[in-house]
Amino acid sequence: MKRTYDIAVVGSGFAGSLMAMIARRLGHCVVLLERGKHPRFAIGESSTPLSNLLLEDLASRYDLPRLSPLTKWGSWQEHYPNVACGLKRGFTFYHHRLGYPDAPDPNRLNQLLVAASPHNRIADTHWYRAEFDEMFVREAQAIGVDYFDEVKLDSFIDQGDEVELSGNKDGHKVTYQARFVIDATGPRGFLHHALHLPEASLPNYPPTQALFSHFSNVKRLNQTSTSVGSEVPPYRVDDAAVHHVFDGGWIWVLHFNNGITSAGVAAVDEAAARLRLSDGEAAWNNLLNSIPVLAEQFADAKPEQPFVHVQRLSFLSGSICGDKWAMLPSAAGFIDPLLSTGFALTLLGVSRLAHILENDWEKPQFQAQLQNYAAQTKEELLATSELIGSLYANMNNFPVFSALSLLYFASASFSETARRLNKPQLAPLFLLHNHPAFGPACRKLLHRAQGVLSKQDSAALIEDILRAIEPIDLAGLCNPQRRNWYPVNPDDLSNSAHKVEATPDDIMRMLKRCGFSQ
Ligand SMILES: Cc1cc2nc3c(=O)[nH]c(=O)nc-3n(C[C@H](O)[C@H](O)[C@H](O)COP(=O)(O)OP(=O)(O)OC[C@H]3O[C@@H](n4cnc5c(N)ncnc54)[C@H](O)[C@@H]3O)c2cc1C
Repeated sequence: MKRTYDIAVVGSGFAGSLMAMIARRLGHCVVLLERGKHPRFAIGESSTPLSNLLLEDLASRYDLPRLSPLTKWGSWQEHYPNVACGLKRGFTFYHHRLGYPDAPDPNRLNQLLVAASPHNRIADTHWYRAEFDEMFVREAQAIGVDYFDEVKLDSFIDQGDEVELSGNKDGHKVTYQARFVIDATGPRGFLHHALHLPEASLPNYPPTQALFSHFSNVKRLNQTSTSVGSEVPPYRVDDAAVHHVFDGGWIWVLHFNNGITSAGVAAVDEAAARLRLSDGEAAWNNLLNSIPVLAEQFADAKPEQPFVHVQRLSFLSGSICGDKWAMLPSAAGFIDPLLSTGFALTLLGVSRLAHILENDWEKPQFQAQLQNYAAQTKEELLATSELIGSLYANMNNFPVFSALSLLYFASASFSETARRLNKPQLAPLFLLHNHPAFGPACRKLLHRAQGVLSKQDSAALIEDILRAIEPIDLAGLCNPQRRNWYPVNPDDLSNSAHKVEATPDDIMRMLKRCGFSQ
């Protein structure tokens, strides 16, 4: 018997499963279709305060309490010790010159440490996606989402009142009818092919590639070769998303608590060609050998997955929704793993689509709301590409690179605090893109950073960046005494309470609610 679903979600990464669960909780009849089979390897692992806060909000708004413990390291360990993850206390950056010995700088000019949490219990995590995504799909099934895996879809046919998705499973033709389709299959995914959608360009963004795998036997970072003096860093430097930056590219290293480490490199085409990234494992080993601290850390490492080389990393779809379909942000575009923006962008999109399903389904405004969703998604992906593009342009100029990344950290901590204070209207778009003062100032600074910068230009740019950040800085990022190490300090927040239209008491109450003290 033919069954018409209200909603078909294609792709069962965590975001597709989450979208399906929310639609189900809103009373819809939902099918979730997956090309592969769980558990499966997936890349994209490092979460941020904003992504965890969005997940927590969605879990509470849509009655998905079993997901809440996954938003903090402490509750995750307590409730789901069998689902692997990594402890992420912050963002760590080191600058290297390939082929030269690492020389720790007494002024810490070649490093940047930005804490994201004050202690482990409420810290962020790296999601071990094989287990994390499998759990999400099982949760979706448990609340009544119909799930089919190993479904190879090949067409999307608009039949007027509904859509027919067809393909094959286990060698047999299958069809699914739905009134609305949500594409959660990642960049250049299902609808991109089925509807022959165009790819849009990312202005001022360099073509980039990536090479990555999962490894066992990776040692912890040798802290003595990365720091100088007796001052204690704000967190253990590799309980973090560790970024090793060099001219034209950067390497990530993320440790999980199951003995696996995720590591890879992203680089502009010119650097990727120089490093011969398309050669895979050999290129990876050569690259490690040109950075002594990494050569030592990976001396006994063994790849646990075949290396993946991605020839073109960034993507923006020319269309993000139609009258019977929408893409999640992660299907609509991807910029780069740098700064871990993917989850937050995706969860903002899930939250907006959920809101539309909740308030506008079958109402005259449905299409207009979808168009609005598409415009916001595109704007946020473009804003992210402006930021990451200028970071790529300055990977050989670490003081400017660090200052530019503070634009991200300042806007992210402002957004997180505004949301925690229940004032999301202060930060409606990612990177405060439409903030009346910060938005335009940030765009101008990023544009300047794309040019060739003399020493003087660099110094002037850094000064102007700090000036632009100051009115939204809640984290002491403009304080030169921190010398590139930024802990989470309650005094920074309460002294800046007025910037989020709050009082120091409001801030203290918020910190208490969030479990700030150990
Ligand atoms: C190298 C790299 C590193 C990254 N690192 C980070 C990071 O550290 N932090 C961060 O926030 N973001 C990161 N990202 C982005 C992150 O991966 C995405 O935001 C995230 O994976 C989106 O999750 P998702 O569930 O939407 O999609 P995915 O995880 O891409 O899942 C898509 C699912 O759809 C299925 N599928 C694909 N095609 C079809 C089809 N035709 N039919 C049915 N099913 C299909 C796939 O099998 C898969 O299960 C990274 C991305 C890359 C490329």
